[in-house]
Amino acid sequence: MRVLKFGGTSMGDEHTWRRVLEIIKTYDRPIVIVSATARTTRQLVAAAELAAVDFGRASTMAIEIKERHELLIRNFLDRMNDRNGNNINELTEQCERWIEDRTKTLLQLLNEIAEEGNLTSRLKDAVAGIGEQLSSRLFSYCGSAFGLQTSWVDARSIIKTDSNFGNANPDLSLIAKNSEELSLLSAQGMIPVMGGYYGEDSKGEATTLGFEGSDFSASLLGSALDAEAIEIWTDVSGIYTCDPRIVEDAFPIKKMSFREATEMAYFGAKVLHPSTMNPAEEKQIPILVKNIFEPDHSGTIIRGETGENGKAKAMTFLKDVTIVTVTSPHTRMGYDFLSGVFKVLKDYHLSVNVVTTTEASISLALSSGQIHADMIDSMEELGEVQTKDKQGIISLIGCNFETMEEVSGQIFAAIPKTPVTMISYSSEKKNLNIVLPENLLTSSVQAIHKKLFDRSEK
Ligand code: ADP
Ligand code: MG
Repeated sequence: MRVLKFGGTSMGDEHTWRRVLEIIKTYDRPIVIVSATARTTRQLVAAAELAAVDFGRASTMAIEIKERHELLIRNFLDRMNDRNGNNINELTEQCERWIEDRTKTLLQLLNEIAEEGNLTSRLKDAVAGIGEQLSSRLFSYCGSAFGLQTSWVDARSIIKTDSNFGNANPDLSLIAKNSEELSLLSAQGMIPVMGGYYGEDSKGEATTLGFEGSDFSASLLGSALDAEAIEIWTDVSGIYTCDPRIVEDAFPIKKMSFREATEMAYFGAKVLHPSTMNPAEEKQIPILVKNIFEPDHSGTIIRGETGENGKAKAMTFLKDVTIVTVTSPHTRMGYDFLSGVFKVLKDYHLSVNVVTTTEASISLALSSGQIHADMIDSMEELGEVQTKDKQGIISLIGCNFETMEEVSGQIFAAIPKTPVTMISYSSEKKNLNIVLPENLLTSSVQAIHKKLFDRSEK
């Protein structure tokens, strides 16, 4: 059994829906996870934010979402002929009823937000999950029209989580138990279709798994069902050496380890949710990243061991970074000082990308969104605080540098005149991070990629 996940780009319009169904048709008893249709989640969140101040405009956005789905369904179903013995009219009506139903719920939620006058994280999640609720059920109906034995499963009945809205933590044992329903459907010859990204807490409130959460839903199910593989289908042929939108020469990586893929996501590659690899790694289930527009391309396989690589496996970058440097007034405070700083990180749930220390000072590279006055106040109790914003981080993943000469010749020589803010490297972790001014990030990424990655590996 394989779990197949199709992202927002694959759910774009009736043409991609048909393409996706053609792919699903080639599998023996797959489990299907889908994202919301392209742009929908972003629009839902924008409507939720707007509802607190302008219900009228928020409800206009809700109607836009409704109409876009109606059009998609009509375009898909109108072109289906009845040769599969399915009643297209009846399926169209079922789709329309579901769109009505979800729109009604959406408007009720937007109204609730308007009445409260502010957007709580609970209501934000309730709204954000509607995109997948819509797409998954509609896609399942369209699958029936296409002649597949699809059967919609509401993720709320499977993906149980805690109440950490916006980034909920899955309850693995409940998910394993609930997934039996999917095995059962599959054993009866059905193809279960479930929306990714959303779930439900123990009080029955809708939750979401965070940005790119559908990838995580797929690996949670893959692990719960002991799948043979988890396949993430998208619009590029695998995980590339660097973001192909920025680096023209980037190329797909054939094989990489769970650890390397997690690091890529953590250090900014917007291709997979960073938690995706955990459930898969636990059960050693390979994750494949494949392209719906080039289904015969082998894509990337992520598994226990890494594959062949040159001097580095991949490169990622992060924008919007601020360096916070704390300097202790007493040089002998040593580890008390450092543990004080780490306690502030813990208290404010800060995740740090790069750290460098001396006995009496520490520099932390943080996403600028994490910086706020209370946190700086707490740091100021420990010493003098300086901040430096508008920085970026370049991270090289899976490095194999053996000498200083290699690091300088392959990396620093590519960007000889660029000012450098911070550097960290560990041969143990095979990871090199360079912090530099944000305005030089893109050109530096391109220059390093050119020097370091050899297209002949392709
Ligand atoms: P989906 O809608 O299928 O989840 P995403 O937009 O989340 O798709 O992810 C695919 C996109 O990620 C690609 O179109 C690509 O532009 C971008 N991307 C960024 N970094 C990488 C990378 N290192 N390798 C592949 N794709 C990347
Ligand atoms: Mg994605």
